[in-house]
Amino acid sequence: MPGDIERWFAEEQRRGDARARNCATKRWFATESEARAAALWDRTRFGERHKPYRCDLCDGWHLTSAQAAR
Ligand SMILES: [Zn+2]
Repeated sequence: MPGDIERWFAEEQRRGDARARNCATKRWFATESEARAAALWDRTRFGERHKPYRCDLCDGWHLTSAQAAR
C-alpha cells in the first residue's frame, strides 16, 4: 500500500507543525509544577481547563486546552 506511508507521513508532519506553532505562541513554563499552577489559575479565574504537557521542542512545558482539539 503506497498511500499508507504517505498518509502517515503527512499526518506526522501536520502534528509537528501544530506542535511548533504551539511552542512559538503558547506560554512557556520551566517546570511541570509551574504549568500546573498556571492551569489551576486559569481554571479558578476563567473556568478554562488546561492540561500541562511536556514540549520536546523547547524542553519546557506548555498548556493545552483540554476540551478543544485544534
Ligand atoms: Zn515548546
